[in-house]
Amino acid sequence: MLLEVEDLCVNYGHIEAIRNISFSVAEGEITTLIGANGAGKTTTLKTISGLRKVREGKVVFDGTDITHLPPYARVKMGISQSPEGRGCFPGMTVRENLDMGAFVRRDRKSAAYREDIERVFQLFPRLQERFNQSAGTMSGGEQQMLAIGRALMARPRLVLLDEPSMGLAPRLIQQIFSIITEINQQGTTVLLVEQNAAQALRRAHQAHVLETGEIVRSGTGAELSGDESVKAAYLGGDL
Ligand code: ATP
Repeated sequence: MLLEVEDLCVNYGHIEAIRNISFSVAEGEITTLIGANGAGKTTTLKTISGLRKVREGKVVFDGTDITHLPPYARVKMGISQSPEGRGCFPGMTVRENLDMGAFVRRDRKSAAYREDIERVFQLFPRLQERFNQSAGTMSGGEQQMLAIGRALMARPRLVLLDEPSMGLAPRLIQQIFSIITEINQQGTTVLLVEQNAAQALRRAHQAHVLETGEIVRSGTGAELSGDESVKAAYLGGDL
């Protein structure tokens, strides 16, 4: 397992956002967390990134307990995140935003760095076209591409994607999900948080359903797609 989350509890003051959740992410796979608004999906990702403090439990990455490491140390170890709402730096160009994703790297003049920029351009040709454009002037879809591209510039072993399809037109949603599969097939492990449960389950090897801070169901993407209660609650009865 590349990532193991063990009995994790995270609070906002007295509010228990997540309670005793445990799951793991196998290297080379796509794992998805689905669930309604407020279920605790974003909190889980932020905790794995080190942006939220753990009240109880552990986060283990590649065998190392990272529960109390600061976020930059986790990025250096190979965990990067594309946040909910994209979080592009609006006054910076595409190039500068991508460079921010590589902030902790010391090899910015290397062939590996150029390879990574090329990988982002191959996945998102639009970003190459818009290389010198300010991120704040780009469309929502382009900013989503930039947020994912920026996360890849850290050369992560595990990329955390928070609601990458949110607010996008249907055609673009398909494209983003195809690219997520491609990123995974290139060897990057993916932990995907989505409200678009149908698409996420179709792409994921493993899936977990979060409800009010707890994991209530787990299985393969195919198993959960066929689960009657998951269908009724999250798939509008179809898939
Ligand atoms: P969404 O899909 O709406 O983003 P989510 O599943 O990602 O939902 P979280 O954002 O993790 O859910 O929120 C989990 C719980 O923690 C919710 O009850 C939410 O109100 C609460 N919460 C989240 N952020 C804060 C905060 N900064 N302060 C107080 N409570 C918070």
